[in-house]
Amino acid sequence: MRHLTEGIHRFQRDVFPDKSGLFAQLATTHQPGTLFISCSDARVVPELITQADPGDLFVIRTAGNLIPAYAPGSDGVVAGIEYAVAVLGVKDVIVCGHSSCGAMTALAEGQDLTGAPAVADWLRHADASRARIAADTADEEKVPALVRANVAAQLANLATHPSVARALAEGNVRLHGWVFDIPTGTVEEVDDVTRPAAAA
Ligand code: ZN
Repeated sequence: MRHLTEGIHRFQRDVFPDKSGLFAQLATTHQPGTLFISCSDARVVPELITQADPGDLFVIRTAGNLIPAYAPGSDGVVAGIEYAVAVLGVKDVIVCGHSSCGAMTALAEGQDLTGAPAVADWLRHADASRARIAADTADEEKVPALVRANVAAQLANLATHPSVARALAEGNVRLHGWVFDIPTGTVEEVDDVTRPAAAA
């Protein structure tokens, strides 16, 4: 914890002065161009891997970067998506999975989650992701294949949200799927789980 409070001091001393103009502008303006939905995993840092400035990304992070398909009722994820798309008017939505994802590993390996019932429940939102994996996928390929399939499945879930469906129909938003590879720092684009293509 101490390194975090020391980090605040370093931020105020070494970083903030150079960006004080930006923060002054951001004090009264919130116009992010992108909704970035990633896993809560500590190793995935959206602003770092995209080199985004404060104010650029509206970020939602969930375990396994899962986006439940739309269902009426109040929900933090639903509200965050709706606010970003319908109110802030973001032009791009990125769903970003990553290598060695704990959630995808638990699913791929069929780990016993009886000690974490809420996690087990939450991971049901990846049922369609699992269903997209070929039954004959080699063991060592299961986690990476599931990570990619899950990004594609969550993009499909995203499109069930009325705010997103409306923006898509009006041509006001584009959806993108990414997978961040932790050991190499590379990002692979996933526009179709059966046809992953190198991106950046
Ligand atoms: Zn993860």
